[in-house]
Amino acid sequence: MTDHDRTWRIETLAVHAGQEPDELTGAVAPPIYQTSTYRQDAVGVPRDGWEYARTQNPTRSRLERAVAALEGGSHGLAFASGSATTAVIAELAAPGDEVIVSDDVYGGTFRLFERVLRAKGVDARYVDLTGDPAGALGAALTERTRLVWVETPSNPWLKLIDLAAVAGALRDHRGSGGERPVLVADNTFASPLGQRPLALGADIAYHSATKYLAGHSDTVNGVLATSREDLHERLAFLQNAIGAVPGPFDCFLVLRGLRTLALRVERHTANALAVARALAARPDVAVVRYPGLAEGPHAHPQAALAARQMALPGGMVSFLPAARAGRSPEERARRFCEATRVFTLAESLGGVESLCEVPAAMTHGSVAGSALEVPASLVRLSVGIEHADDLVADVAQALDRA
Ligand code: PLP
Repeated sequence: MTDHDRTWRIETLAVHAGQEPDELTGAVAPPIYQTSTYRQDAVGVPRDGWEYARTQNPTRSRLERAVAALEGGSHGLAFASGSATTAVIAELAAPGDEVIVSDDVYGGTFRLFERVLRAKGVDARYVDLTGDPAGALGAALTERTRLVWVETPSNPWLKLIDLAAVAGALRDHRGSGGERPVLVADNTFASPLGQRPLALGADIAYHSATKYLAGHSDTVNGVLATSREDLHERLAFLQNAIGAVPGPFDCFLVLRGLRTLALRVERHTANALAVARALAARPDVAVVRYPGLAEGPHAHPQAALAARQMALPGGMVSFLPAARAGRSPEERARRFCEATRVFTLAESLGGVESLCEVPAAMTHGSVAGSALEVPASLVRLSVGIEHADDLVADVAQALDRA
């Protein structure tokens, strides 16, 4: 059954792709196939290819089709977490290969490259790709480069990377095995509503689906999309061979979240802009970072790229409080996060509820002491879908008390 039409807009795809009514009953909510195996019609003859649930599960297949459609790719693959997805993609690199990574990434991504892959002989190099990506890549690419891993907007600094420029700079390069390096874009912060990396030249669009795709802070999940048959074949093999697959109920939760993704990201964006503007207006805030803040002293240095590359700048805001009343910025960052009432102090992001955290002490502990170290006074906000006025008031009262 065709579940969607490629001409549909992303809001329509979010509701319908992979979400066709159940063939058996017409149930409009996706059935959860909570099974580990399938009866075979004869020895070695699985019905319609359904053989074993690590390899294939109908609920997971729906999610994989949905993600492929939302990212404008031909194939999707789902995993037990974003980190499991990272680990599987990283298997594309063999000992002796190199990986170029943008220089501000989720702490767990850094940890995997540094503490798992380096020991296996895969070297990661961290490069600032914000200013002149072609020049920076020209200096960093070698005949051993297998992967280029970029996060845009990045976690936690919300740096942006021009994906089309990076893809262009890789086009004629021959890296490991004489092949063009594979460009992976971590699209977790933007969501496909914000930008679609495959259309900009990335080979793989990646998500911690734990975040905006699922959207309700109730599951851990990871997905990728690609239009390259060779990559899909290899990654599907690795998905089954490594076995870090999500359970069907978790796939159902992400599918349910996807149906409201478009509405949620619009609201996240509107609220984040309101919060960023409120922070920017305060004398006791030293730095605000929000890709949608285009004017004033706290305008994002890459606001023009955001306007060009992103349909919506999304719901993530970072800021550094200034010192005040004898309290250091670091102390104020901690006090702020402990004083909010609407924002919940917690790791993760992308759920309907607003969250706040101090990355240096929480999500990014693994980059401490490295070139990617994050200041102890940086606060990261995941702005939820509550009323903007309540969020702005909460930020104001918490800063007043910090
Ligand atoms: N990529 C980004 C940008 C993230 O923020 C995270 C988690 O916070 C991950 C990847 C890893 O995803 P997961 O926590 O689902 O393993």
